[in-house]
Order: sequence, then C-alpha cells, then structure tokens
Amino acid sequence: MSTFKLGAKSLKELEGVHADLVAVVKRAIELTVQDFAVHDGLRTLEEQRRLVAQGASQTLDSRHVTGHAVDLVPYINGKLRWEWDPIYKIADAVRVAAREKNIPIRWGGAWDVAFTEVDDSPEDLVADYTARRRQAGKKAFIDGPHYELPKAKYP
Ligand SMILES: [Zn+2]
Repeated sequence: MSTFKLGAKSLKELEGVHADLVAVVKRAIELTVQDFAVHDGLRTLEEQRRLVAQGASQTLDSRHVTGHAVDLVPYINGKLRWEWDPIYKIADAVRVAAREKNIPIRWGGAWDVAFTEVDDSPEDLVADYTARRRQAGKKAFIDGPHYELPKAKYP
C-alpha cells in the first residue's frame, strides 16, 4: 500500500468524470509505487478543439469530453513528468485496481487491446502495438497517461 494521495488539483480534475473511472483512479493511487496526478479529466468541447489544433489530441470525439477518460501523469519531485518507466508503473496499478473493481479499462498505450483482460506488461503492450501499427503502414499515436472506459460498455 502506497502513501500517495490525490491532491486538490487531481480531485478537481475528477469532477464530472464517470464514477466507475473515479473509483479506479482512487484505488490506483493507493496501490501504485509511482505517484501520479490527474492531469486531465473532463474537458469542454472548446478545450478539446484547442488540443486537436495543437496536435496534442487526434479527435474531437474524445472520451474526455463525455467524462469517460482521465490522464494520469507521473508526479516526480514536484513536477509532472511524461516518462515511460513511471508511466508503466502507473499502468500496472491502474490495471490491478480496475480488475479488483471489475471495471474494464482501455489504455492509450495500446488502444486496440482490452487492457484489463491481458497479462502482458504495459511495456510489451506498447512495443507490440507500435509494431502492429507499423506493419499496417500506420502511425502509432501512443498516449501512455490516458485511460478510458470502453465505449462498448459505457456508451
Ligand atoms: Zn487523455
């Protein structure tokens, strides 16, 4: 059990996010060996438009706009860090938390995989996803901090 706690900013970001996803995040912060902050939860369509214009997101049809997605970013020495090793540790904690609660999660590190139903390490999932996209002649848009509730079960 970790001693990490969600800060006021993280809790604020969780406002308006689906209760199932909030429950997973709150359990994940108890389990994780890597501290994290909720960088982005619910977004307005306006915010989403801006992110797409900046190239930071690929679609206006984002799960963030409907409250079905969160971005969990490593928090290291007082700063948010987009670094893969800590991102993988957070992904491990999210998967354990989600399984405990029986809530399916789709991860931005491997979009086409049912993250909570496979046992491969997050690192391997990203490597395999990238290879699959390359084979298909497509660019791999990887978003390691991103977790969402799958549309099939949460329309
Ligand atoms: Zn996201």
